[in-house]
Amino acid sequence: MSVVEKQHSAEAMALEARYGAQNYHPLPVVLSRGEGVFVWDVEGRRYYDFLSAYSAVNQGHCHPRIVEALTAQAQKLTLTSRAFYNDQLGRYEKYLCEYFGFDKVLPMNTGAEAVETAIKLARKWGYEKKGIPAGKAKIIVCQNNFHGRTISIISASNDPVATENFGPFTPGMVSIRYNDLEALEAAMDEHVAAFLVEPIQGEAGVYVPDDNYLEQAHKICKAHNVLLIADEVQTGIARTGRLLASCGNCSCPKGQCSGTPQVKPDVLILGKAISGGVFPVSAVLARKEIMEVIRPGNHGSTFGGNPLACAVAMAALDVVRDEDLAQRARKLGEKFRAQIAEIIAETHWVRLVRGKGLLNAIVIDDTEDSSTAWEICMALKENGLLAKPTHGNIIRFAPPLVMTEAELEECVGIIRKTLLEFKKP
Ligand SMILES: *Cc1c(COP(=O)(O)O)cnc(C)c1O
Repeated sequence: MSVVEKQHSAEAMALEARYGAQNYHPLPVVLSRGEGVFVWDVEGRRYYDFLSAYSAVNQGHCHPRIVEALTAQAQKLTLTSRAFYNDQLGRYEKYLCEYFGFDKVLPMNTGAEAVETAIKLARKWGYEKKGIPAGKAKIIVCQNNFHGRTISIISASNDPVATENFGPFTPGMVSIRYNDLEALEAAMDEHVAAFLVEPIQGEAGVYVPDDNYLEQAHKICKAHNVLLIADEVQTGIARTGRLLASCGNCSCPKGQCSGTPQVKPDVLILGKAISGGVFPVSAVLARKEIMEVIRPGNHGSTFGGNPLACAVAMAALDVVRDEDLAQRARKLGEKFRAQIAEIIAETHWVRLVRGKGLLNAIVIDDTEDSSTAWEICMALKENGLLAKPTHGNIIRFAPPLVMTEAELEECVGIIRKTLLEFKKP
């Protein structure tokens, strides 16, 4: 051992309980190392990671190429602020625009910041290009959305846990049902600047809309001169079996897109896996005639576009392309859902499995406020697999996309054994 005493799980958890704000309720496991699809706790036990930091670690933990880019850039230049140019940002912006097929990018750090940026961009576009009267711009959002935690974003949320006692809220948000085109059409008027939507609602419990939903929604938006903003912070970057869940005219290699309708959003929001979980990086991409409403001083962030983030993100996106992660996610996802469907036939604990690519969830056959999903996750942990309930009785399964078929088989085995042996405590 080094000078620092090895810390045990109980101590680490006690420290967080004593000194940390209790804004999370983690599973009782204390991780200290990660590699690929695995993480290890401080006692040295190995687990399959079936959450991937909410799809930030699509490329697997500590991917050597991304870590190498991080350490190499960290020794040269980390931050200059945007008061000066840096030699990575322009390269990165070109790379990102070509990679996803957009004209321009505005770099930020976290997903929530990128969503805020997109809302500001859409409002300004609404006033200056669409001609919405001052102060009247509206953004349409969907019920049960998850776009982050800032005041403006929770102003668009209908989750009482996220909103209670945080008001007053930002006006101008109109909430409609998800996967409901009639509701979208009905909400349209001359004051609407944008429709902000997740191609699959991840946090809500992996709700996959109808196949043609986004495509039809985009048609409605176009007819009313309204921007379609796709929040792909969680669905983006190969997770759902395509480079983007809304995949349109992007540069993903042939065969990465399946036959379902394709949409190119007017504004695309990325975060999480854009850095492979190594560093907070997010981005808003749009066509030139939208992005050009942003002028110097209108918006910014000290860390947005820093050279470290740029170098890390380029390496992380190289990995997605070079390791065919979209195709892997699609193939493994099909296998996974088929095998979980077999398990469902054997156990009464699971109602259904749903998802796309390697963004999947099972719905536990119990009430929404029951602790059954939590108890099942505790049992999965004991058997060497980490997953977490999302809303009540739903468990999200989203392993790193670098998983092999043999590893996936082993994981399905763990899930099967756990569910067959599970008894409510
Ligand atoms: C995680 C997430 C966000 C927020 O990202 P942060 O980096 O946590 O701020 C926004 N939108 C979606 C769809 C997400 O899954």
